[in-house]
Amino acid sequence: MKKVLLVLLAVVMVFALFAACAKNVVEDAIADVVEEVGNAVEEAGDAIEEAIEPDEEVMTLVMATNAEFPPYEYHEGGEIVGIDAEIAAAIAEKLGMELVIEDMAFDSIIAAVQSGKADIGLAGMTVTEDRLKSINFSDSYATGKQVIIVSEDSDIMSADDLEGKTIGVQGSTTGDLYITWDYIDDGLAEIERYNKGVDAVLALMQGKVDAVVIDNEPAKVFVSQNEGLVILETEYVIEEYAAAIAKDNEDLLEKVNAALTDLKESGKLQEIIDKYISAE
Ligand code: GLN
Repeated sequence: MKKVLLVLLAVVMVFALFAACAKNVVEDAIADVVEEVGNAVEEAGDAIEEAIEPDEEVMTLVMATNAEFPPYEYHEGGEIVGIDAEIAAAIAEKLGMELVIEDMAFDSIIAAVQSGKADIGLAGMTVTEDRLKSINFSDSYATGKQVIIVSEDSDIMSADDLEGKTIGVQGSTTGDLYITWDYIDDGLAEIERYNKGVDAVLALMQGKVDAVVIDNEPAKVFVSQNEGLVILETEYVIEEYAAAIAKDNEDLLEKVNAALTDLKESGKLQEIIDKYISAE
């Protein structure tokens, strides 16, 4: 009797074991099928996505500027336009990138480029030794001049006559830098620094300053928009405009210089400049 029971028990255990195995096999098979179906659905999804968006995402080229500097950058019809905006757009096109323009204070541009908030700074920006300590400059794309604006009846005839006068500039520009070096540091004149070039010109109109030192092209625009002002014949300083790029972004510097070379050789750069500046 005991033997019979033992045999029965053994038989029951074998069956139980077999059932458990069978259950595992079935479960595994179901899991495999579920996984395969899942993979297939995912692959189909990717294929559909690719079909809808065949291109890779277009990289943006973020340009920092101060759109208060006509004809290089200014607001028109809710947009930022001008020579720099068009040059940057032409560079971006050559690099297969999409241009995004960020408007900010002139003295924030270098920090924005340095920190990577912007890729490139174009703002009629003059190459200076001091700025080269913080950022790199591309090859130059235009020549700038610092000129002196006075009212028509002024007794200021040249830079020498600035002694003893109050001079208006846009703060942190090269005009500010040169006047500070040549006159202010030696106590030879007074300076008033404004956030925008146009504000310095308005101060001149109101008699708050005796002269404004600013880049030639915006000077021409501001003088044409306001009665009674003239630009002195003598150029104060000649300088080079270039694009600011972060020191650790050598790759972009090379690409921008290559694009600028192309734009110069094809005549496109001159075409952009001629569109905004009529030949003298
Ligand atoms: N060329 C000048 C500079 O670099 C002024 C530029 C500007 O005001 N946007 O300082």
